[in-house]
Amino acid sequence: MDQATVYVVGAGPAGLFAARKIATAGHRVLIFNRDVKLGGLAEYGIYPQKFHMKNGLRKQFAKILAMPNVDYIGNARVRSDERLTIGELRDWQPKAMVFAVGAQGTKKLGLAGEDSKGVYSAKDFVYHYNRLPPFASQDFSSGRRVAIVGMGNVMVDIARWLMVDQPGEKPDEVTVVARRGPFEVKFDRKEFDEIETFLDRALFREELSRVAEAVRAVGQDVSQIAETTFPWMKTEPDSPPKSKLTFRFLASPVGIESGENGRIERLRVVENVLVRDGESTRPKVTDKETSLEVDTLIFAIGDLADPTLGLPYGKNSYVTNSDPAEPDRAAYEVFDPASGKVLDGVFVVGWARKASEGLVGKARFDAEQGAGHILKYLEGAEVKSSPSAEEILQGMRSRGIEAVTKEDISRLGQAEAQQAESLGLPEFKFSTNEEMLRAIGAKVAS
Ligand SMILES: Cc1cc2nc3c(=O)[nH]c(=O)nc-3n(C[C@H](O)[C@H](O)[C@H](O)COP(=O)(O)OP(=O)(O)OC[C@H]3O[C@@H](n4cnc5c(N)ncnc54)[C@H](O)[C@@H]3O)c2cc1C
Repeated sequence: MDQATVYVVGAGPAGLFAARKIATAGHRVLIFNRDVKLGGLAEYGIYPQKFHMKNGLRKQFAKILAMPNVDYIGNARVRSDERLTIGELRDWQPKAMVFAVGAQGTKKLGLAGEDSKGVYSAKDFVYHYNRLPPFASQDFSSGRRVAIVGMGNVMVDIARWLMVDQPGEKPDEVTVVARRGPFEVKFDRKEFDEIETFLDRALFREELSRVAEAVRAVGQDVSQIAETTFPWMKTEPDSPPKSKLTFRFLASPVGIESGENGRIERLRVVENVLVRDGESTRPKVTDKETSLEVDTLIFAIGDLADPTLGLPYGKNSYVTNSDPAEPDRAAYEVFDPASGKVLDGVFVVGWARKASEGLVGKARFDAEQGAGHILKYLEGAEVKSSPSAEEILQGMRSRGIEAVTKEDISRLGQAEAQQAESLGLPEFKFSTNEEMLRAIGAKVAS
């Protein structure tokens, strides 16, 4: 077996499926992961109640980690200004490096008041309720009137959490704020089925009347809504729900006002009209401004690649190569605009390559496609000798990085399963790294 090592950075679906393909071809793979646990958004993004899907993925991931030529170093964030940098990884001479770090950058709209209390990014909010440290123990309190900006599946998950599964008080009203109209929703019907009983039909009809003329300008007819994007308008829930789900279409946020306690009190929006843009539509802002009284605001508008990682960064994403002769391969290669060259043996896959694009199946497809190109690259790559995973691990621990191994992860799984059983819960997750490290045992302590 070829003992030269390929480093995979990130152990979400993309990193793990890329690792499996590369390891199956006989290469040794060492995975570095920011979180103690593996899984990325499959563990810390996918809705907590989707036990079946999450457990299915966990089983597949555990099998990948159990491959004899796959090693794992968790709790090891790679970052340009931290103790573990890309330069350091490169010094260990891997045969190739695959970055599968997902989309960890936060899209900011640059609004006045964006840093007010009660204003969150969807990613941080779902990390919180999925119990990813340190978000799990931070304050993500929500109030009585919540606005969620965006109309995709992540909005649906957050609305569901707030109105159905969050412990304690539920909000009176959750308002979905969208730049475009009722025909441009991005969520899947199956997902919205989970919250459709909360949709306040009367208020929704009022909102449709409000935007009827604006959407008619692009040939849309609100009387057709039940036949197109809102089939739930054909039915009425049996009893009025505790929380109301409402929509505010054709509205772009422009400012946030907070009260004396620093918490958001008002979201200012400008009204939009819709214009045709080829097959699609585009919002165009007007000068008409209005505001919504809210105490919580969550932006569910997608994420960006993390600029602090240390890879060449372009407009919101890592810079990749473009080669008209082989565009498919080039799209996975990292390109350095400063030197005008491809970074030899450095690749990106999954959401790190295309932020917030698609479900796990798509991230897996992208990673396996990328891994195919990486395997071709490895055929001609120089055989280098890198330190063993154990040597790297010991070096990191001696510098105080509390890195964990795949054996530690398996012990952690057992400890969490025992906790779940003794508490009678379907699952249990430790919500701080300290608790996880303690459960793993003294071996980890530096
Ligand atoms: C709220 C939400 C709900 C979703 N629900 C579903 C669903 O129901 N079904 C479905 O199929 N898909 C769902 N998805 C999509 C799915 O989660 C993604 O398609 C998939 O997780 C992307 O995989 P990835 O590996 O590219 O990135 P991620 O899953 O984000 O994994 C990135 C990994 O990289 C690590 N990492 C990050 N930065 C660093 C660093 N600097 N150094 C080292 N490691 C690092 C992270 O710790 C993580 O392990 C959902 C997504 C979200 C946001």
